[in-house]
This record gives sequence, C-alpha cells and structure tokens, in this order.
Amino acid sequence: MGRLEQLRDPSSWRRAVVLVRRFRQEPGTANLRRFEPLVNIVLSERAALHGLGDEALAERAKSTAKAGLADDGDLARFLAVASEVARRRLGLDPFEVQLLAAVSMLRGRVVDMETGEGKTLVGFLVAAGLAVTGRRVHVLSANDYLAGRDAQAGATLFAAFGLSCAAVVDGMDHAERRAAYHGDVVYATVHQVGFDLLRDRQRSADAQRLVPELDAAVIDEIDAVLLDDAMVPLVIAGDGDPRPEEASLAGVVAVMTAGVEYEVDGERRNVSFNEAGIAALEEHFGVDDLYAKDHVELLTAAHVALHAHALVDRDVHYIVADGQVRLINDARGRVADRQRWPDGLHAAIERKEGIEVTAQAEVLDQMLVETVARGYRVITGMSGTALEASERLAEDLHLRTGTIPTNRPCVRVDEPDRLYLTAEQRDEAAADRVHAAHAAGQPVLIGTASVADSERFAGLLAGRGVDAVVLNAKHDAAEAEIIARAGEHAAVTVSTQMAGRGVDIRLASRAAEAGGLLVLGLGRYDSTRLDHQLRGRAGRQGDPGRSVFYTSLDDDVVTEHLVIGYHPRWVDPDGRVRDKRFRRIYEHAQRVAEGKLLQLHRTTRRYHTATDQHRRVLLDTRDRLLADPTALDDYLAHLWPADSDKPDTWTRPDRRTLAVEVALYHLDRAWTRHLNLLAEVREGIHLRVLGRQDPLEEFNLIATDDFRALADKVTAATRDTLDAASENATTLADLGLRRPSSTWTYMVADNPFGSEADRFFEFIGQALRGGRPPAISYT
Ligand code: ADP
Ligand code: MG
Repeated sequence: MGRLEQLRDPSSWRRAVVLVRRFRQEPGTANLRRFEPLVNIVLSERAALHGLGDEALAERAKSTAKAGLADDGDLARFLAVASEVARRRLGLDPFEVQLLAAVSMLRGRVVDMETGEGKTLVGFLVAAGLAVTGRRVHVLSANDYLAGRDAQAGATLFAAFGLSCAAVVDGMDHAERRAAYHGDVVYATVHQVGFDLLRDRQRSADAQRLVPELDAAVIDEIDAVLLDDAMVPLVIAGDGDPRPEEASLAGVVAVMTAGVEYEVDGERRNVSFNEAGIAALEEHFGVDDLYAKDHVELLTAAHVALHAHALVDRDVHYIVADGQVRLINDARGRVADRQRWPDGLHAAIERKEGIEVTAQAEVLDQMLVETVARGYRVITGMSGTALEASERLAEDLHLRTGTIPTNRPCVRVDEPDRLYLTAEQRDEAAADRVHAAHAAGQPVLIGTASVADSERFAGLLAGRGVDAVVLNAKHDAAEAEIIARAGEHAAVTVSTQMAGRGVDIRLASRAAEAGGLLVLGLGRYDSTRLDHQLRGRAGRQGDPGRSVFYTSLDDDVVTEHLVIGYHPRWVDPDGRVRDKRFRRIYEHAQRVAEGKLLQLHRTTRRYHTATDQHRRVLLDTRDRLLADPTALDDYLAHLWPADSDKPDTWTRPDRRTLAVEVALYHLDRAWTRHLNLLAEVREGIHLRVLGRQDPLEEFNLIATDDFRALADKVTAATRDTLDAASENATTLADLGLRRPSSTWTYMVADNPFGSEADRFFEFIGQALRGGRPPAISYT
C-alpha cells in the first residue's frame, strides 16, 4: 500500500477519529487528500531534476524563488527543487509523506505527524517556501537547544535559495539578537520572541527595536505552544524601590503554625490567616486594622509570605542552588532557568530561605504566550498530537488540522491501562514490569508526572537492581544526549513529560530484537493528548515498540477531579482493579480534567482581553512618539492652552528628545501602575469587599475606568515635569526621574497553589478547581 493510500485506510484509529469528527462536523479537521495530486506533480518534477548539475540546480532554485507560490504549479516546482536540494545538501531525501505535509502547511493547514516522521525537514521546506515569497519567517521551536540545532542543520538548504537563517537563543546580546532577527528564517522559542517584543516596548528614544514586525510563523510542536503554554505570562521586570516591611514579614510568618494562626484547605491549594494570625500581624506592625484600605499592600504581602511559608516546599517546588532559588517546573520536570513565581512570591521564598533577595521586582509589562502567537499574520505548524488539539486550534486561531500518514506503518502495540487501587501497588507492579523488560534487553522509557515521582520510581528500580537514568534538573543539551540513548539495549530512562522533547530516540538493532522501546506511563496526564505524546516515543518509523500506562485510583487526575463513593468489586491480591466500571471512571476523570483546563484557559483569556486592547492603544501612542516627529508637536500642543509659548521651547531641536523621553517615562510609569492595580484586583484583595458581583464584569469595569484615567494622569505628569524643568536639563536624571537601571525577563511558572484565576475564583466563593470535586456515581 502506498503511503498516500494509507490516508484512506480506515484501520488506523486516529484516522477514525478524524472521520468521526468530520462526520459530526466538528470544527478544526481538514482533509489533506485534496493535496495528493500536487504531491504527485512534485514527485515527477523531482525525478527530472536528478540529472541536473549542481550549478544548474542552484539556478533553478533562484528562479523558482522569484515566482511566488500562489499557483499550484509554482508550488510544485519549488518543492521539487527544495526536495532535490535537501537530498544533495542535507543527505535527506524527503519522503512522500513529508512532501504532503509541506504542501499542506504551505497551503495553511496544521499537520498532525507522528514523532520521528521528520518534522524538522518538513519545517525547512515550509520555511524556505514562505521565505522565498518574501515573507519573514519565524520557526518556533520547543526549546533553545532545538532552535540552535535546527537553524544550523537547515542553513545550507536555505542558502541554496539565497536565504539567510539564524537562531535566537539565551545568552545573545542586543546586537546579536538584532542581527539574527534580520535573517530571512529565524529559529527561536516563542518565549524568546515574546521577551524581545517586551524589551522593544521598553525602548527609549535612541534605541533600535530588536524584532521587525511579526509575519509568518511555522510552529513546531504547535499544541505545546498554543495549548500547553498558551496562558503562560511572559514578564519584563525592572528594579523598583525596596520595601522594608516585607522583609520583616518573613520572620513573623515563619513562626506561625497551621491550625493556630492560619488554616490550609484540604487540597493544599489555598491558605489563609485566621483571627489569631491577623492579630499577630497587627501587633507586629502596630496597626489597628489590617483590612483597612491603607494596608492593602501589607495584607497582600502577608498573604504571599504565608503562601511561601505554608504551601511552597523546598526540593518539591524549588531547589536552592548557588545561593539562588531555582524553580522546579513540574510538568517539564526540570529546573527552569528563567522562571520566577509571580511577583512577590519569589522574593518571599528568598526571604524564607534567608538568601539575598534578587531585587525588588516591579513588573513593567507582560503578555501571554498566546498573544505573541496571535501577533503573526500567518501561522502554520506541526505536531505528533495536533489532531487532539484540532478543535482548540480552530476555535482559538481558526486553524485547520489534517493527519499525515506515517512513512512506514506503525506497528507499536498500545496495551490497555493497568489500573491499581493505590499508587504504591501501581509502582510495585510497574517496577516489576520494567525489571522484566530490562532483563530481556528491552529498552524502557518511563514517563512520570513530576520530578519527585521520577526519583521515587528510580529508587524502586534500584531496589530491584535496575540502574535507571533520571532526566530532571538538567539542561536541554544534556537531556538531549541522554534521551537520544534511550533506545539502546536494556537502557532504562525515567523522565517527566517534556524532558528531552524533540530529540530522536534511535533504536539499537539488539534492542529492536528484544521488542523495541517499551514506553511505560506512570499515571495518566491531565489530557489524552499528553498521553499520546508519550506513547509516540515508541514505534517510530515502523520500529517495533509497545506502550502501556500503569494507573491507580490515587493518581492526581482522579483525586483532583472526582470523589468516588464506593469500592471496586473485583480486585486482585496485588491491588489490580478488574472492575471494568473503574476504567470508565478513570477516563471520565481525565475528561473532567480536560474540561476544567479548557475553562481555565477561557477564563484567563477573558481577563486579558481588555488589557491587551488597552496595551495596543498605549503602544500605538508610544510608537508614534518615537517614530513620527509631528506626534510630539501634537502632544505638546495638547499639554498647554493655545496661548502658551511652552510647546515652542520643547520642540526646539536640542530639547525634543528630552521631551519625548519625559512623555515615554510617564506613559510607562502609568502602565506599570495600571498593571499592578490589575494584579491586585485579580488577587482578590479589592474584590473581597465587593461581594458577589460577576467577577469578570467587575474586573473589566475597574480596568477600563483606571485605563481611562491613565491618559489624563500621563498628560498632567508630563506637563508638570516639563514645566519644572530647568533650562540646562538634558537627561531624565537631571529632572529627578529614574528609569529602572536594569530589566530582566522571566515567565511566570505554574503556581504551586493554583493560577491567578483559580485563586481569584476561590476567593469569591466560586471555586473553579479548588472547591470540592463533584461526587459522581455510576450505577
Ligand atoms: P520529528 O520531529 O517528526 O519527531 P525529526 O525531525 O526529529 O522527527 O526526525 C527524526 C529523524 O528522522 C532524524 O534523525 C532525521 O534526520 C530523520 N529523517 C527525517 N527525514 C528523513 C528522510 N527523508 N530520510 C531519512 N531520514 C530522515
Ligand atoms: Mg521534532
């Protein structure tokens, strides 16, 4: 059966998923069969190029570049040449299915393509195709390591079309970044691009922007970027003024005890002072009523310190290394370099650990990963689990997703889950299974939910004499090397979900004889999509392989979402649950989890919509002041009454720049203050007194009111500063104004006690996740 024919093969379950979805007219799926004829043209054109000399091929490459690809014939000609170039320069002859993927993506579809099918090469073809038509292309990679690796690997192919290519990664300075962004094809993570956009927004009159306008994005692992990471806020902060009373809070809170001064809710997601706790704080700070309006900041800081004390644990949520608090990102299972907790919490932890507080951060601006992605005019992408994300991609970004058949039939065996009563029983059984596979020479990759789980399980294996490599707390490059060896004879690798992503696991021939890679999931994740990602590690390119999940009724996905009121009827002596209903209950819990996550995303997005609009207004003003000389004249005329001669003094060539700097300074200050207010409102401190109004409506009212007032405040402040300026002032410092002396960027890590929106909901009594889970009963 030809590879393209597989598209028609109804035997694959994923194909069935597409059919069912399309039958039900579910949005988001696309039929890629329509592109088959085009692929056939590429194949025949490519055959004709084999005999061409290198020079002639290069000529052909340049001439196709001029044509544009709107016409199907031009698209086919381009892909034929690009494909031949890949064969000669990269030593990779694109498979038919890779061409189908490239055609589909160049026609705007997102493709679902299994792990190991060669999405990197497809990315080269697509990026080149977009770039030859004059588009500025960003290929968004899963991490810095992959961005660097892929940019380097594709460079010679891009060069054949006269295209330059570069990667933007950590450690590059302003000039290097700026140069890299001017390449035709740029490899970077969405985080790097987002951080650089944030830096651009803070630039002063004499600085040049880093990132040219966003144009086309080819997103690798598109569901990771647009679903898993979509709601991660990217933040730029600057050094603010120190706040002494927060330092002494750590000391007061450190001696408090649960049940005496504060209460922790059953799920350890929320903590609050009780009366005794509040009294202790009031006494320490000598205030009468901590809930009075004047003490809002202190109360907020006290809550943050309490969270740090009661809910955030060393070596679980963070480690202390080299005198620094470094976060453990649970999902990725590694120490995250650039992550901080939300404002205040990080400093509170540093105080709790008695180490030097990095600097009082003040959030200057922030935006969601999703907002960065939405900034592109054209988006396409690929992933091994795009299909499961198709509905969301359609809803959120109007993207349509289709499936690409595998190059060779997938012979991986996906076993049904093995469900146990308790996590201990689950782990014992799983460890026995690993031990047996290992003894037979079969390599095993174990996927866990967290770093702590990985380590515990590796301990169990060690007790059975099995030496496992644990992936955590390492850098991408080191992880890549380890995971690349996970397919060797009898190798045992324990890793969390994201570790080593995007790195090829090649199967050693002895390992293939032993049955290929066994992927063993320890508990299911919060969505079947993530489960499938893990399974995809086995059985790539027609390799033998097997996958199985060992689960238990103790798994987070169950306990966090369901209360089960009765016991299974059939249980083996080792704890294995034979009662079929319980498998359904487990799956039900996972669907509940998926639903809640979706709800949380929607809520988070709603809380950012107004702010995003407001920010655009502000940035527009900012950009005009920077770029358009008449903008300053207009602004100055607006500051003073018509008969004033003030504007003329500030439009003089030697004073203009300072006037612009002053306006920008006040604009940025006002925005920072606005964001701080919104954060406080979201934290619920203000809403606590507002009762039970619709929180979103209430939030938007406050946000809009404050934003309306912002323009007037900026105008007044700018006028005051310019009025008071002495004739010989030339810098902001001469005027007594100070911009942050340093800025740094970070992303807000998953909050150990729930997201902002979570806590917000809890605060007003509409627990979204933290409340009692619904009891369900199956009869
Ligand atoms: P994916 O991102 O889809 O998981 P990769 O792009 O990492 O897959 O590719 C997996 C492996 O397959 C790499 O080692 C790559 O060099 C190889 N590969 C990709 N395309 C081809 C091809 N057309 N011919 C031979 N090997 C290929
Ligand atoms: Mg890949």
